[in-house]
Amino acid sequence: MNIIIFGPPGAGKGTQSEFIVKKFNLFKLSTGDLLREEINKETSLGLKITSIVNSGSLVSDDIINSLIENIVSNQTYKNKIIFDGYPRNLPQAENLNKLLLKYDQRIDIVIRLKVSLNVIKKRITGRVICSKCGKTFNEFFNPPKDNEKCCKKEFLQKRDDDNVDVAIKRFETYENSTEPVLDFYKKMNLVKDVNGEIDIESIYSKINDYLSVIEG
Ligand SMILES: [Zn+2]
Repeated sequence: MNIIIFGPPGAGKGTQSEFIVKKFNLFKLSTGDLLREEINKETSLGLKITSIVNSGSLVSDDIINSLIENIVSNQTYKNKIIFDGYPRNLPQAENLNKLLLKYDQRIDIVIRLKVSLNVIKKRITGRVICSKCGKTFNEFFNPPKDNEKCCKKEFLQKRDDDNVDVAIKRFETYENSTEPVLDFYKKMNLVKDVNGEIDIESIYSKINDYLSVIEG
C-alpha cells in the first residue's frame, strides 16, 4: 500500500504519519529528509544540493524527482511508502504517477486532513507554556485545570515564535499549491477527507478504518 497524506501546516500530519508508519510498517518519504540525507552523505548530488540551498534557491523538481526515484525503485520499500509533503505541485504528481507505473506500483489512497484556518490560528495563538514546569497547554482546546498545583495563570507564558501571520501565509500557500494536486487525485477517485479538527486518537481511528479496508 502506498499512501499520500495531505494537510496544511499545523494539521497534525506528522503525528498521524508516525501512527500509520508504525501500524502498517511503512517507509515515510519526506523530501526534506531525503535532501538532508543526501547533503550529509556528501555525494556529488549532495554537494550540488548544498550549494543550491546555500545560495538561497529552491531545489529543482528534477533533483527532487531523482531522489524520489531512488526510493520508489528500491525493492525494500515496494508498496510500503507514505508520501508526506510530496507531491507539492501538479508536475510532481504527474512525475510520481509515471515513476510508480515504471516500477509496477500505484497510489492506493490519498488522505486529506481537513483543518480550517480558524482552528489553526487558535492552535497557535492559544498555545501557552508553564514557566515553572514546562508543560504546554492551549487556552482554547486544552486549558490547565483550575485545581492544578503548578500551572497557574500567573506562570503561563506565550511563546514568541508563534507567529500567526506566518501561519496564514503558509496555509494559503498550501491551499493554492495543493488544489491542482488534489484535483488530479480526485479524478482517480483516491482522495478521502478526514476531519482534522477532532482529537488525535479519533482522527487516527478514521484513517485506520480507511487503510484497513485497503490492506484487507
Ligand atoms: Zn506547571
